[in-house]
Amino acid sequence: MRSVSVFGATGSVGESAFDLLMRAGGSEAYHTVALTGGRNVARLAEMARALRAKIAVISDEALLGALRDALAGSDVQAAAGESAIDEAAQRPSDWTLSAIVGSAGLTPGLRVVQRGGTLALANKESLVAAGPLLMAQSRRHGATILPVDSEHSALFQCLDQDNVDRVEHVTITASGGAFRDWPLDRLHSATVEQASSHPNWAMGQRITIDSASMFNKALEVIEAHEFFALDNDRIRVLVHPESIIHAMVTYADGATLAHLGPPDMRHAIGYALHWPDRAPLPVAPLDLAALGQLTFRAPDEVRWPALRLAREVIAQGGAAGAVFNAAKEQALDDFIAGRIRFTDMAPAVEHALDRGAGRPHFGTSPAELDAVLAWDQAARRDVAAWIAERGQVE
Ligand code: NAD
Ligand code: MG
Repeated sequence: MRSVSVFGATGSVGESAFDLLMRAGGSEAYHTVALTGGRNVARLAEMARALRAKIAVISDEALLGALRDALAGSDVQAAAGESAIDEAAQRPSDWTLSAIVGSAGLTPGLRVVQRGGTLALANKESLVAAGPLLMAQSRRHGATILPVDSEHSALFQCLDQDNVDRVEHVTITASGGAFRDWPLDRLHSATVEQASSHPNWAMGQRITIDSASMFNKALEVIEAHEFFALDNDRIRVLVHPESIIHAMVTYADGATLAHLGPPDMRHAIGYALHWPDRAPLPVAPLDLAALGQLTFRAPDEVRWPALRLAREVIAQGGAAGAVFNAAKEQALDDFIAGRIRFTDMAPAVEHALDRGAGRPHFGTSPAELDAVLAWDQAARRDVAAWIAERGQVE
């Protein structure tokens, strides 16, 4: 029986993975090693009981007692805290999904590749913050990283492995998020609630706001650069409001292969789960006649300055990804908390990149986790200082 672990099981991607595992036979079909969650004890315990997991880990240490109570009478072991998540990631499993949101996903993902495991990676932030480190460790330990971000899964599926050097460019699509049709002069007044609704995909709040600002696509451009070793000029972004084409690969002979499907993460997660095979998945069939048409627009770097920043991060290399990712997370926290406006996030991140570029060794990719975390912390402080200097928004 195959063994699996899911980090971030209680989130949007984690729930989709749970759904797939249960439909595929649950504990009859898979041996579940570890499930982790952030704060939702009740749901984590329910999932761990249903899949008969060996261990359930809640990230908030104060919730250990509650998790123990919720698991009483079951065979599931309870644990809590960052170090317990780290330990759980070191436990052997044939397939491990990293679906934690943000830089908290970095350490567990790294542990999985360091034990030579198969890492299904939804947590794009770890590739943005520490792509060279993660990819080098993966090669060194013979690990397998399978992309779970829908666009990167689509690229992975369209890539003709025998002709990778014949790729002219790749295209990842973007729905345009909540504000794609807003007048530019209204964007500064966008509220958290308005930014938290996505036209096509049901996702966690943070990635939904990142879709409205295009920071999500910016992360994905960098993710494509790290994962597929492509330069800036070979990665394109195309706004495609229907989210049916997820990505395309254009070859030297002019052929473009596209991946299409309804916007449902269970395809990308299920593809990674069954890779290299393909298995039936509970995804609605694609009905192009019912859709009638698919539309496209060029991306607008005035509306979405995050896209320009992503290009600069790739051009700079070194620690820029770690700074970009952490500054974006901090700016997003500050927007959600009402400390800055929607349109302040990109300038805050740009400020942190400028500050970072003035520090020693910025041009060197961090080769250790501690170095990544040091850049991460410095970037968060730079964003906080920028906000403090400007004063609170009214
Ligand atoms: P989410 O917020 O719905 O869930 C995140 C999960 O991580 C939850 O289980 C949460 O409890 C856990 N978590 C949060 N903070 C944590 C911490 N500090 N330590 C440990 N666990 C913590 O997020 P999501 O939308 O499921 O996204 C998860 C990841 O997948 C993100 O990296 C996101 O960019 C990526 N992704 C998501 C989608 C999507 O459709 N939701 C699509 C592509 C990629
Ligand atoms: Mg995506």
